[in-house]
Amino acid sequence: MQQTLWGETIPKRRRKRKVIPLLTAASYSITENDCEILGHTLRVWDLAGCTICIDCGVKIFCPQCVSQHPTDPQAVSILCPQHEESTVSA
Ligand SMILES: [Zn+2]
Ligand SMILES: [Zn+2]
Repeated sequence: MQQTLWGETIPKRRRKRKVIPLLTAASYSITENDCEILGHTLRVWDLAGCTICIDCGVKIFCPQCVSQHPTDPQAVSILCPQHEESTVSA
């Protein structure tokens, strides 16, 4: 046993180890909301200014091309590359 200047004994062994449970591979999912984080992966835009996300399948429309998606009122509005460019400078 060692002693400090104050005469206190120092315990030789410290047994303070936090056990952190490993995350299982199953609990880790990147497909759940990677669209929210990384953005949707768009398919080619069609002539009507609509497309879909090939990852989550959500319908997407360009609000500059069409006022709303023709078939899906829940569609996500994303500017198509053409209008995206024009709004950057505007
Ligand atoms: Zn998506
Ligand atoms: Zn557009």
